[in-house]
Amino acid sequence: MSFSQKVAEDLLVQAARFCCLCRQYKGTKIEVHHIIQEANGGSDEHENGIPLCFDCHAEVESYNTKHPRGRKFQPSELKRLRDDWFGLVASGKAPSAAVSQDEDTELIRFYSQCFDRPAFQDYFQQEGTMEAFDKAIEDTITAINTGCLLSRDGKTLAMAKGKSYLHNQQWRDQMDVIVDILKAIRSRYKLAIQLGQIQVGNGNHSRQFYCFHDSELAQWMDMTRAEVLQLFSNICKEAGIKTLIFPRKRWRNRHY
Ligand SMILES: [Zn+2]
Repeated sequence: MSFSQKVAEDLLVQAARFCCLCRQYKGTKIEVHHIIQEANGGSDEHENGIPLCFDCHAEVESYNTKHPRGRKFQPSELKRLRDDWFGLVASGKAPSAAVSQDEDTELIRFYSQCFDRPAFQDYFQQEGTMEAFDKAIEDTITAINTGCLLSRDGKTLAMAKGKSYLHNQQWRDQMDVIVDILKAIRSRYKLAIQLGQIQVGNGNHSRQFYCFHDSELAQWMDMTRAEVLQLFSNICKEAGIKTLIFPRKRWRNRHY
């Protein structure tokens, strides 16, 4: 058996279609879960139902009693979490879906600041200093993961939240992919230094010069960063904010 239309509807209305565990607005991507499994005698009554998103549903069911690790979600705990959430919705204290969307847009705007810098928009061979390039990529990974944007000398420039706080699951997944690509850029850079594909020399005290012994490296760096900005721009378009492109358009590119 499963929940009747009426019971499911009551539960979804009480939750305002937010997941009772992660408390994110999920729209149609939500299910009504049996707190006590039917196989264990759980009923199809209102009392035994809890609206959960796909991820949390999987999380709650994934616990393997034959190989116990971590702590199982107990039925009484699920009921409390559900009732707490229902209480917030009923009292008007729960964030609305529109608020979730606004918070996400603000976070994307914050990440956009991190990408709006030479390390993401200039050709690799135009980079001022390689260490600064690598540091900028590292700082961007930190900013996306933790919400803390650092300046070059390590001061906190801005504080927001990490990508795990995004309500929009697709955006969260896309930001995961972006961070993976950024990590690949750092690995490729480290490897290039080790292999001597980039050599850093000091021309004088203030200027560095670089020898690129691998033309594919610069191409790869440019292609990969173009891909990152493309992925990120797709999110920006959905969020209705300014998109970024690689390479940044400049009038003086005409001279090259
Ligand atoms: Zn959830």
